[in-house]
Amino acid sequence: MDEQQEIEPLGPTTASETGRSLSNGIALYLHIPFCETKCPYCDFNTYAGINHLIPSYIEALSNELRTWASTLRHPRVNSVFLGGGTPSMLSPKQMNDLFTLIRAEFAVQKDAEISAEVNPDDVTLERMTGFVEAGLNRISIGVQSFDDTELQLLGRRHSVAQALKAFEAVQRAGITNVSMDLMYGLPHQSLESWKRNIEGIITAAPQHISAYALTLEPDTPMAQQVSKHIIPDQDPDLAADMYEWATGALAKAGYRNYEISNWAQPGRESKHNITYWHNLPYLGVGPGAHSFLGGYRFANGKSPVTYMAKVNAWGEPPPDLETLLRENPGYVQDIEPMDAQTEMADSLIMGLRLAEGVRNRDFCARYGVNLHEVYGDAIKETISLGLLKSNGMWPEATIQLTERGKLLANEAFVRFLGD
Ligand code: SF4
Repeated sequence: MDEQQEIEPLGPTTASETGRSLSNGIALYLHIPFCETKCPYCDFNTYAGINHLIPSYIEALSNELRTWASTLRHPRVNSVFLGGGTPSMLSPKQMNDLFTLIRAEFAVQKDAEISAEVNPDDVTLERMTGFVEAGLNRISIGVQSFDDTELQLLGRRHSVAQALKAFEAVQRAGITNVSMDLMYGLPHQSLESWKRNIEGIITAAPQHISAYALTLEPDTPMAQQVSKHIIPDQDPDLAADMYEWATGALAKAGYRNYEISNWAQPGRESKHNITYWHNLPYLGVGPGAHSFLGGYRFANGKSPVTYMAKVNAWGEPPPDLETLLRENPGYVQDIEPMDAQTEMADSLIMGLRLAEGVRNRDFCARYGVNLHEVYGDAIKETISLGLLKSNGMWPEATIQLTERGKLLANEAFVRFLGD
């Protein structure tokens, strides 16, 4: 008999100890909801034309950080990520003030990965040097394409030459851990032009690459242009060919496809994102930011103005997480106490995004039950569809997506969701 089966399984209404405990540290996300202009495909919670709010926003963000740090008793932080939006719109002083506060209020680990997304048009050597002095050690550049015509279609304000210049400035500032983002499956994009994109990024040789298929949400200007036939619709088969070509070329260039949409040189995987994929605790601050903390999932309200008003009206920090969530209607929304079934499904689905897949032993250690006891039928079905593979003998087995499963991940994941 498998010794792990002797562990008492979690009750259906209980989040796992791993999901609740902060003792191993958290990932900290800061949302910066400002953009110079709004790209026509973007449905992130970001806004153009409100840059004048940046100084007061930083104050509100600082208030939120102070409150959380006190309520959570100054927890250990393993990684910090500034995303948006456009964190590179912050000045070095604003960045420095934020990190002075974060280091004073949270136990930021010495080896913490501290990243910010930057847009190439904001990057100067001076600004990046200031960011390094503030404590950043990883930069993610929103390159998006190595083709100027595609950049124009995407409404980006930078050119390929500017993106490469930004990369040079980031490196000269002393950052040796750089990620670049690309998008594929664009209207008008051919396989040939995508190949040139991949060749461009391989030549640039950042340590990490993210490549996401363009997903058009219905209310974005670009989706409307597609529905009015002003620009052509996307071709999912072509996008699949692009993904396969990228995977082959990037592997030859020494990048490991460690997550469906992410590639890294050895040791340069994103620690911050791995926290999400391992379904471990994280705190998101700023409007629209999501958190998984103390056995709850929740999100802040989306409006930056309402967010600032709510956060600035806070008094003494609440004594615990439950009080903070309960006493702040309008600031925290979508509060979902995590039950074991939901947390297990989340862990499985997010874990399967990773090349390493999900080890039965790890699942068992966290939840007290074997994977096949909970998901036996779904695993069999997904394997029979060629989307999943099982390596090793149970209970030592690991399940992983196949190459086909990576292309059709949602078809695999849906089989692990409850009713
Ligand atoms: S810069 Fe990024 S966050 Fe801002 S609008 Fe464009 S895609 Fe969205």
